[in-house]
Amino acid sequence: MKISVLRIGERLVRDDRVTTHAALVARAFGAARIYMSDIGGSIPRTLDAVREAWGGDFEVVPTPSWRRVLAGAPARGERVVHLTMYGVPVGEAAPRIAGEESILVVIGAGKVPREVYDAADYNVAVGAQPHSEVAALAVLLDRVQQGRELDAGFAGARRRIVPSARGKRVVGA
Ligand code: SAM
Repeated sequence: MKISVLRIGERLVRDDRVTTHAALVARAFGAARIYMSDIGGSIPRTLDAVREAWGGDFEVVPTPSWRRVLAGAPARGERVVHLTMYGVPVGEAAPRIAGEESILVVIGAGKVPREVYDAADYNVAVGAQPHSEVAALAVLLDRVQQGRELDAGFAGARRRIVPSARGKRVVGA
């Protein structure tokens, strides 16, 4: 399954740490790219450094218009999955989403306008309580890939962790 993530909305105070975490989680849980507006320059640099060391070809795509990315989803062959606590429980939605070839997962960073709910093919809730776009993204991506993404390799990695019960073992520079 091809996965892209779109983070929409701006907070009154930009929170680069949460934005960075959204990008890191998207990458680690199998997405190919994240589209984001309102990002500081350090975020693409952080993700470049992660890719250099840990491999893969995940991209951060700065976008001046999230509406354009959302409107372009059908032309790119993507089904839109919007994460919202008001949606259908993830346990119900995930088996159907797992059958899709390509998805655009939309997460909010503040109040999400009504048009996003209307544009979505799936409005999906990870529990019916408010929490975090980062947590919701991780759970959704894990459910639709049934955990396989956690075993995927990242091509071109310079560093690789050797799992160990105690301590840290890393091979590579
Ligand atoms: N009241 C806001 C709204 O209009 O949706 C909630 C904003 S919340 C801090 C930021 C984002 O986290 C939401 O837009 C949504 O993508 C995600 N989120 C939070 N709780 C969620 C839940 N229970 N299920 C799915 N997504 C959730």
